[in-house]
Amino acid sequence: MISKLIKGNKKFKDTHFHKLEGKFDHLVEYGQSPDVLFIGCSDSRVVPDLIMDSKPGDMFILRNIGNFVPTYKNDDDFHGSSAAIEYAVSVLNVRDIIICGHSHCGACESLYKDLSNEEDLVHVRKWLELGSKAKETTLSKIKDKSDMQAIYRMTEKESIKTQLENLLTYPEILRKVNAGQLDIHGWYYKIEDGSIEYFNGETDSFEELK
Ligand SMILES: [Zn+2]
Repeated sequence: MISKLIKGNKKFKDTHFHKLEGKFDHLVEYGQSPDVLFIGCSDSRVVPDLIMDSKPGDMFILRNIGNFVPTYKNDDDFHGSSAAIEYAVSVLNVRDIIICGHSHCGACESLYKDLSNEEDLVHVRKWLELGSKAKETTLSKIKDKSDMQAIYRMTEKESIKTQLENLLTYPEILRKVNAGQLDIHGWYYKIEDGSIEYFNGETDSFEELK
């Protein structure tokens, strides 16, 4: 695989880079000023710039397991995802934040597995706590508790709603949203057909993105 990637970079330099050379020159000279913070899953099947047809400079991208947003915590620990969110909002001044969940998300499925004895997954286990509210909500709402695929699909969507709520625990995000300077969006990408649904807060449902 590594040799394939090395060949891939050569191909990129010889083809795509040339096409975008002017754009990169501009981005080097003036720096980046993306309008959007895109928070997606690390899943290899969800490739933000591919599915949005976006270009270098368009989106500041944060990917982590489950596209989770940790709640605001002003302490002395290391908070990689929170730092990226803070930087995008307070330094880059993005206008929009997209939380993009997706179908067949391994993180959401893992919420239903017992990882308590997995000693090599201490950080994953802790991180997955950010999905626990989505799991609880799903199990309280869903009627057929034997249909695991339906449970996973609902959990993926409920989690997007939770992460939107978590975004608003950041004082600067709350302030900017209330001031009309920032919009936050919950999107759901379907791996099987490439389409996206968005969360409509007024109807509390996911609808086709138009
Ligand atoms: Zn995922």
